[in-house]
Amino acid sequence: MTPLAPAAAPTQITELVHQAHRLASLGLSPGTSGNISVRVGSSLYLSATGSSMSTITEDDLAELSLDGEHLSGPRPTKEAPLHLAFYRKDPHTQAVVHLHSAHAVAASCLPPYSERSALPPITPYFVMRVGQTPLIPYAPPGSDEHAAQLDKRTFMFRAALLQNHGSIVAGHTIPQAAEAAIELETAAEVLLHLGAQNFTPLTDAQAHELAEHYRSCWDVEGSSAHQ
Ligand SMILES: [Zn+2]
Repeated sequence: MTPLAPAAAPTQITELVHQAHRLASLGLSPGTSGNISVRVGSSLYLSATGSSMSTITEDDLAELSLDGEHLSGPRPTKEAPLHLAFYRKDPHTQAVVHLHSAHAVAASCLPPYSERSALPPITPYFVMRVGQTPLIPYAPPGSDEHAAQLDKRTFMFRAALLQNHGSIVAGHTIPQAAEAAIELETAAEVLLHLGAQNFTPLTDAQAHELAEHYRSCWDVEGSSAHQ
């Protein structure tokens, strides 16, 4: 008789681990920085404190309730409140990626383009895959202040830059969150290449039209793009 195969990890957990390794292999999570989470039903699975994105396994995931209660597994990253804020903001959020990738960190040290986005609408792909990305003022890592700042921004967004710290991106799927994190890093890199030169971003109206079409988020005064 053929022995039973070991119980397979839920597909989303397997995908989460795969995307964590992929982001690490791209050099986007230096050291043990960065963390990643996925919602499965009414639970959140989140990187454990001290875990590395490059070597994470399903055993390195903490299970939390959507209220942040620790249900099982190792202790979660101290940056859990950041993740929870994105799940609160949009019930369609299935995954959140937080990185200390170099270009996003550098861009987070610059003055923001606007109240609603740290980066200008620099390419169509940034608008389509990431959308407006507010700059959240500096707070110590792990403090509740970041989550409070995210909660008080009532306009729609699926990504933010944390000042002097890094990026955080939500997605309706795990691959979508990972792709958006990569696109945000790329947009930050392009911006830094441009430096102090005069350059022409898309207009807010052009960005808004793209966001409407691709169901991203880019507001112009007096209107909101689709969520
Ligand atoms: Zn961080």
